[in-house]
Amino acid sequence: MRGVVIHAPKDLRVEEIPAAPLGPRDVRVRIQAGGICGSDLHYYHDGGFGAVRIREPMVLGHEIAGTIDEVGAEIRRLTPGIRVAVNPSRPCDVCQFCREGLHQHCLDMRFFGSAMRFPHVQGAFRQSLIVNETQAIPMPTTLTTAEAAMAEPLAVCLHAVRQAGPLLGKSVLVTGCGPIGSLIVLSARYAGAADIVATDVTPFPLEIAERVGASSTINVAKDSAKLASHAQGKGTFHVLFEASGNEAALRSALDVVRPGGVVVQVGIGGDMKLPISVIVAKEIELRGSFRFDEEFEMAVELMGKGLINVKPVLTDTLSFERAVEAFELASDRSRAMKVQLSF
Ligand SMILES: [Zn+2]
Ligand SMILES: [Zn+2]
Repeated sequence: MRGVVIHAPKDLRVEEIPAAPLGPRDVRVRIQAGGICGSDLHYYHDGGFGAVRIREPMVLGHEIAGTIDEVGAEIRRLTPGIRVAVNPSRPCDVCQFCREGLHQHCLDMRFFGSAMRFPHVQGAFRQSLIVNETQAIPMPTTLTTAEAAMAEPLAVCLHAVRQAGPLLGKSVLVTGCGPIGSLIVLSARYAGAADIVATDVTPFPLEIAERVGASSTINVAKDSAKLASHAQGKGTFHVLFEASGNEAALRSALDVVRPGGVVVQVGIGGDMKLPISVIVAKEIELRGSFRFDEEFEMAVELMGKGLINVKPVLTDTLSFERAVEAFELASDRSRAMKVQLSF
């Protein structure tokens, strides 16, 4: 079988990789769609992010869906032919945080295509993948495989929206409108936000943000005064979702958050300096959002019922044999949002 393997920054190869054995509680999934994530792009461009670095060749990819080919000897619930979204996270279920129901904080998490542990957990951009049965989530017949492969990034955004608390009738600002920012717009709209303003520094993502439900958009590279106009009084937004990971974006957004507002930091760049006096004086609550837990199955359900439509975010599909081209395209936000590989 062939897979997409990162060897070093800018050294991405489509090559032959070994097949893993099928355990009694595993299923073999023929992968059909795989979305390129921001973290995949960090491995591709920089060899990792923060302290997480590639130390051996690693198959990339964790946003995947496909069809079950074969099931392990003890599997009853799933059969070959069932189409599934694959949940890339496999928490240990026994550590302190798993037992508290905080699976995203598992001390022994295995996440496809992640260099956080060594040996790395090999990823899912491959023709066939072995997954534990708990990670294979049957998808409704109404969904395409490409949509099902959006379940992971959508789950990240549903989790972020949960971190914010109730959004019904609230005024929301989303800074950074890549795939995650756009999916936050969709999720916030679904959660009942009355007004959603989205910002970015390039026009193409802002067009997508409008198509998925932003009330208005601001290109802050050209028109930062338009954002500043929301600073009247002590600021107007109840909730800020910061999805750019950019310090300047967070700083300017803090000026337009109203007193008592909530900031959910979703994007991760490097470390940031924060104007603590603004956070103190306006009693702003700063909250992190990391990965997801049960929101994965929720994402599959909401898409399946037609309550959240991710199709406008999915702009391009290329064969996995053209992975390098696809990674370059996904890096160019002036013309692409979510880019998927087909297998
Ligand atoms: Zn992802
Ligand atoms: Zn655990």
